[in-house]
Amino acid sequence: MDEVPYDDRDGVIWLNGQVIPWRDAKLHVLSHALHYASSVFEGMRAYNGNIFELTAHNERLHNSAEMLGFQIPYSVAELDSACRETFKTTGATEAYIRPIAWRGPEQMGVSAQACKINVAIAAWQWPAYFTPEARMKGISLDWAPYRRPDPRTAPVHAKAAGLYMICTLSKHAAEANGSSDALMLDWRGQLAETTGANLFLIIDGKINTPTPDCFLDGITRRSVIKLAQKRGYEVIERAIFPEELSKATEMFVTGTAAEVTPISNIAKEYYFEVGTITKTLMSDYDDLVNGRSIAAE
Ligand code: PMP
Repeated sequence: MDEVPYDDRDGVIWLNGQVIPWRDAKLHVLSHALHYASSVFEGMRAYNGNIFELTAHNERLHNSAEMLGFQIPYSVAELDSACRETFKTTGATEAYIRPIAWRGPEQMGVSAQACKINVAIAAWQWPAYFTPEARMKGISLDWAPYRRPDPRTAPVHAKAAGLYMICTLSKHAAEANGSSDALMLDWRGQLAETTGANLFLIIDGKINTPTPDCFLDGITRRSVIKLAQKRGYEVIERAIFPEELSKATEMFVTGTAAEVTPISNIAKEYYFEVGTITKTLMSDYDDLVNGRSIAAE
């Protein structure tokens, strides 16, 4: 990794209503969030000077906080304008924007009734999540050692830091085997998602995607479903078991960071082409986020 460390960069960060120098945006080591994962976040991308689905992301941030039992002390509209302001400070037309809300250090222990809620927003240049070559050829996935948990065991619909522990472990295991990411099943053994993006499979010319009943219903996922329907493709949301992978001809993932990225293979068991439907939706998504009208219209 040749990335510049994230605490040692130029620029500013929005912290609890103030814009401060990037390197000063620190938190205390006894913050509740650090010990007990009481933190929720968002990831957005700006294209052509506009943050794509800004309000939907900030609404989800609010909902995620509620699922963790706390309220963000800024309205969605206030967060929208703070995100715009932070994005503008980058001076760029494209950026990744990361709002995060967490419980502070006012109380130690599992209970957090007295903890204050903090909010920060940072924006930076973050190129494609997967390399351009991988995006052309498709990314290689490996089976994840962990499964998405049962909704009775965790607040699975929140974009909460604590839920990423199994993702980091699964992604590390995949990378150790030379793959780009891991394919996670859910607690029932159904296909769920990768460690940071949703899944789509093309079977008999129809687009299939797992029902998001125990993992994040991605904002990109919803946009891509609409784009596909606009093209006249049938989109089926349902429970999908791994046995059906042998019938899939194309497969791709969607996510704010991942955008629309084809999958080339799953371990050494299943191989897919970067086919017409995937290519069409990659291009339609690119048009949509950049504010261009879709080629078909
Ligand atoms: N699943 C997980 C676990 C994710 O982290 C993300 C990225 N936020 C997604 C799915 C895709 O969500 P979105 O399209 O809203 O970015």
